[in-house]
Amino acid sequence: MTKLLFDGEKAFKYIEKLAVDIGTRPSGSEAEKKAADWIASEFKALGLKTSIEEFEVTTGRVVSQKLEVLEPKMGEIPCEVMPLFGSTGPEGVTGDLVYLETYDEEYLTPDIEGKIIMTSGRPKDRKKSYRLLSKFKPLAMIFIESSPRVLAKNLWGSHLVKEKYGELPALRIAFMDGRKLVQSGASRVHVVAETESKTVNSQNVIAEIEGYERPEEIIVVGGHYDTVLEVSGAGDNAGGTAITMELARVFKEKGTKRTMKFAAWGCEEVGLLGSRDYATKLRKASEEAKKENEDEDQTELDRTVLCVNLDVHGGFLGTNSSRTLGPPELKASIMLLSKETGTVFTVNEGVYSSDGTSLSAVGIPSVSFSRGTPSNTFMHSIEDDISWLNPRALHNQGRFIEEYLTRYVAEAAAFPFEKEIPDKQKKEIEDYFKRSLRGMP
Ligand SMILES: [Zn+2]
Repeated sequence: MTKLLFDGEKAFKYIEKLAVDIGTRPSGSEAEKKAADWIASEFKALGLKTSIEEFEVTTGRVVSQKLEVLEPKMGEIPCEVMPLFGSTGPEGVTGDLVYLETYDEEYLTPDIEGKIIMTSGRPKDRKKSYRLLSKFKPLAMIFIESSPRVLAKNLWGSHLVKEKYGELPALRIAFMDGRKLVQSGASRVHVVAETESKTVNSQNVIAEIEGYERPEEIIVVGGHYDTVLEVSGAGDNAGGTAITMELARVFKEKGTKRTMKFAAWGCEEVGLLGSRDYATKLRKASEEAKKENEDEDQTELDRTVLCVNLDVHGGFLGTNSSRTLGPPELKASIMLLSKETGTVFTVNEGVYSSDGTSLSAVGIPSVSFSRGTPSNTFMHSIEDDISWLNPRALHNQGRFIEEYLTRYVAEAAAFPFEKEIPDKQKKEIEDYFKRSLRGMP
């Protein structure tokens, strides 16, 4: 029987600090920086070798936004502008409204020029669609969201769309409003999407415990600490950050045969930027080293054998799930521990849209643990506050993950998984990053 030290009460205090005292921590914001400094100071207080690693992020801000239906006269419709897509300026634009089921190339013809497009679908090939949109220059885009009434606040859109295809002012409306507009044959609208963007620094916080027996083997355990705008992100992901921090305390106390790196990732919510930066640096450093010495097979990338990603945790109402990218044994090991400990976990293989996938993109197997509801009830909404979390839920999740790490990482005589990602999953990872416009890390 493994002796377990993870303390849910301690982890809950970390969540209070992040989600209540600091509060919302949008990607690239001052509050995100404040959270990073605090996490770093906690890691240092544990006696861990700690560093803050910076990277750039383009952030956006909405100055003013409005959607008004002029024909028939329906007044204003609630909307959220995507600030990185472009700006209409304060005066906005007025134009005929065209509803397209999707913005696939079949629908993007010269007669969309000078119009405002509304769409509920997603195209098969976004790059092709953006190319055509930049050619035919509609005045603005209105995306109908799948959520019936609540609009997520975080969706800045990628600045790469503007960089590569030019300005395309865009806003989002809730599904019920989209339905209303289509049903009533709305044909003319006024759109204000006034925005600003700037490039700032964000940061990952990395703390290390050196392995006492096999320090050359590295396991990365982490979760993102940023949030979407205006949301305290208690479950997503003060929860995962808190578990990461408490695990750092636990393994500092217990010791570990292998080196463990604890990561608090920045800017996950705007495209996994923190973990992507980490993975890209590992890959580039490794390529450089191999250019100098062909036989080099001990770069940090070579030595990093697993990433454990924690995203969405702490809810007392919810279910446990995990997603693996790696050999079949990785999935099997979680199922095995789930049965042994009587902790129900749904385990699937495949891409989870979170930081573990960045590391898997450069060949590091990953497992993401999370605890949410099947339809992500509170995801990216202001309801994701501390009232739906409790120390008991954290305790159970934390101990399961501690036990997992203890057996397979900290105490295992030989590392139990091959460092390999099956071709089918590699393809899935490539497709995932292709959709993001930014390409692979
Ligand atoms: Zn998250």
